[in-house]
Amino acid sequence: MISDLVIIGGGASGFMGAITAISSGLRSVVILESTSKVLEKVRISGGGRCNLTNSCWDIPNLVDNYPRGEKQLISLFNRFSTTEAFDWFQKKGLSLKIEKDGRVFPRSDSSDEVIKCLTSVAKNSGVKVFTNSHVKNISPKRKGFDVLVKGGIHFEANNILICTGGHPSGRRLAKTLGHSIIQPVPSLFSFTISENSLKSCSGITLDVQVKLTVDKKKYSGTGPILITHKGFSGPLILRLSAFSARNLHANKYIGKLIINWLCMSEKKVRSEIDLYKLVNGKKFLLNNKPFKQLPKSLWNALLLSAKIDSQLKWADLSKKDKESLVKCLIMKSYSINSRGPFGEEFVTAGGISLKEINFKTMESRICKGLFFAGEVIDIDGITGGFNFQHCWTSGWVAGNSMVPLKA
Ligand SMILES: Cc1cc2nc3c(=O)[nH]c(=O)nc-3n(C[C@H](O)[C@H](O)[C@H](O)COP(=O)(O)OP(=O)(O)OC[C@H]3O[C@@H](n4cnc5c(N)ncnc54)[C@H](O)[C@@H]3O)c2cc1C
Repeated sequence: MISDLVIIGGGASGFMGAITAISSGLRSVVILESTSKVLEKVRISGGGRCNLTNSCWDIPNLVDNYPRGEKQLISLFNRFSTTEAFDWFQKKGLSLKIEKDGRVFPRSDSSDEVIKCLTSVAKNSGVKVFTNSHVKNISPKRKGFDVLVKGGIHFEANNILICTGGHPSGRRLAKTLGHSIIQPVPSLFSFTISENSLKSCSGITLDVQVKLTVDKKKYSGTGPILITHKGFSGPLILRLSAFSARNLHANKYIGKLIINWLCMSEKKVRSEIDLYKLVNGKKFLLNNKPFKQLPKSLWNALLLSAKIDSQLKWADLSKKDKESLVKCLIMKSYSINSRGPFGEEFVTAGGISLKEINFKTMESRICKGLFFAGEVIDIDGITGGFNFQHCWTSGWVAGNSMVPLKA
């Protein structure tokens, strides 16, 4: 039997594509999944809670969270964005909540509920799911496609939707069908630095301003960073890692960070120091600081980096010492020497070239009847639910764009 649609990959985008396709009128929709379990990434995502989207409802702001695909996502989000995804899941019976930082989770805090929702809606709509079905080859025929599954089983389909995530096999299948692939590189990772003066500060999270330079290219941002025992992580660092992913990879993960630990102007820092010195001249620099927001261990580490004796009294702080302290507080430089571990989430930057996809339909511009959705495409977001949002959106648009097989 020829199916209206065969979907390769039973992840977030595959399920959204399948459910949408069948509700838009396709009669026979099949999902082929390599492993023994579908939606495995949904299960482990968000530390087992699944951060499935974000309450960033405004499309121009939303697309700022995508280092790759920003332009293409504008038209996609105009059709199915965070608002629509939020409503879609609630209407399917999944109760959601929005956290203070805008991330959206199931009210139960359990990714299993997301899986239950997607699998039961798919089953009730008549989507057929085959696990342990690794797709080895797709051959276009005069009408439709032949899909070869490991073990020698064949499926026939009028349309194909490739939703294989960051797995190399999907990119390989697309390549054999004529697509070019943007080299996949990792995104959303922490930085390891050469300097070890911050070892005692590991575990501290602080809002800072950061300037990152990678081979002359500059990136910057303000937000929370986490000091780790080997370098830096936290939301701002993960964001910078995503925007610089390609450059950092090309530059062998060598770069320079300049941190303003106080998010203050030089003028303001100088005047705060002068005032503090005037009032607290008899106090030791050790543990006595003008900047309340700086944790003690970080203050002491920065004094050490500035080569200032912490046993000094404020009244004895020389002009030279003050200069060096100001520099360490607001323009301290750290050398990145390698990629650190991933945060809670990681994605692949790269995949099917955006030029070869029609973003009105998610159909290939090269092979008629072939569609793509999710991480397999050269689109990725930062942490916060943006990666799943792209999967729901591209899966929904693809599922709504297919023509049923004429009887
Ligand atoms: C630890 C972790 C936590 C994350 N947490 C979040 C989060 O909280 N929020 C968020 O937005 N994003 C998160 N992400 C990112 C998010 O999981 C991915 O962006 C998303 O899962 C991609 O969905 P997809 O459908 O494109 O691919 P996937 O979910 O990767 O699904 C692809 C499926 O295709 C199957 N497959 C591959 N090749 C074949 C083949 N040849 N034949 C048949 N099947 C095949 C795979 O087995 C897999 O099941 C996280 C990622 C990780 C690694």
